[in-house]
Amino acid sequence: MNLIAVIILFAIGMDFILNAWADYLNLKVLRPEVPEPFKAVYAPDQYRKSQEYLRVKTRFGWITGSVNVILLLIFWFAGGFPLLDEWVRSWDLNPILNGLIFIGILGLLKAIVSLPFSVYATFVIEERFGFNQTTWSTFVLDILKGLVLALLLGTPLLAGILFFFEYAGTYAWLFCWIAITIYMLAVQFIAPTWIMPLFNKFTPLESGELKSAILGYAQSIKFPVQNVYVMDGSRRSSKSNAFFTGFGKHKRIALFDTLIKQHSVGELLAVLAHEMGHYKKKHILVGMILGILQTGLMLYLLSFFISYQGLFDAFYMQYISVYGGLIFFAMLYSPLDFFIGMFMQMISRKNETAADRFAVETTGDSGAMADALKKLSAHNLTNLTPHPFYVFLNYSHPPVLRRINDIKGLDRMS
Ligand SMILES: [Zn+2]
Repeated sequence: MNLIAVIILFAIGMDFILNAWADYLNLKVLRPEVPEPFKAVYAPDQYRKSQEYLRVKTRFGWITGSVNVILLLIFWFAGGFPLLDEWVRSWDLNPILNGLIFIGILGLLKAIVSLPFSVYATFVIEERFGFNQTTWSTFVLDILKGLVLALLLGTPLLAGILFFFEYAGTYAWLFCWIAITIYMLAVQFIAPTWIMPLFNKFTPLESGELKSAILGYAQSIKFPVQNVYVMDGSRRSSKSNAFFTGFGKHKRIALFDTLIKQHSVGELLAVLAHEMGHYKKKHILVGMILGILQTGLMLYLLSFFISYQGLFDAFYMQYISVYGGLIFFAMLYSPLDFFIGMFMQMISRKNETAADRFAVETTGDSGAMADALKKLSAHNLTNLTPHPFYVFLNYSHPPVLRRINDIKGLDRMS
């Protein structure tokens, strides 16, 4: 068996085993007693429900993960890739169109496989735990809009990458890097006004106590805010959240309608202060730069492997092609991506702590921040006691108990 195939199989296996092991540990450390700081917000039966939610989701994750791996292995070893390649080549088109169709069909197959799982997660699991608000028509429309958007936004980008690697020679990776970076920035720029309104309704927050509190606070920390919007998150789920979009002076705040319903003005302000903290502490900017560097590294490595015979032998491909190289390299790259991802999550967890600290220091209200975190976790049935190994692999935020402890620690220091 070819060495590349062995490496990829080993990577797939390790990824599966590590995640399953972390899941197992995560379930094993669950205890029935509600942790002390949460006694006031979590009734014992609600706490039991949150643990049941975790168990159900973990088991469902095992099934989804296993099915995905098994189908990939069947497709691979039954010669699915060369079969698809020969079929596409039989149309006698140019290499760019071949690539678009080849990758497009693989993407479509993946979407078809994940569809029943997505239906089950939304209409059975989320429904059972009282989160689901998605109607069938919203669900179907979301899929159709997503598909059209993927075609409209993805096709030109993919065509560009295929074109550069087909015709631009040694520096193809560099041209691709520049093109992808510009493209991603442009998409992020248009997302708040052109893309997100396709999926949700954004209405300006009406004047009142909350709006003046937000604008007053933003001014006090010299944070330019033009608009505060309310997003109809309740259209899909009763879970709640808040986020920022846009750049520079065009930043927008979006609060889920579900969030506004559940929190006091002080708590909402704490949540937003945390988000503004990410901007003020340059987390967003640094994250973007790290993302761009990561893309560059990946493209640079890709340029060595994109027409490497061994990579194509591993998948029984008869012909070498740019599009085949893209797909197969992505699988070979996944172990490195795994480690980079873990490192990025470590940075992210540190940033979250820094943003919490910023919020507490600038609002001077550690109680509101802690209350907001408690209510959010109880409402979203968050796992309060994740296993450290699970946190290490999967968490972009520190566990909520840790965050609350850190916030209390800030109080003691001041
Ligand atoms: Zn954050």
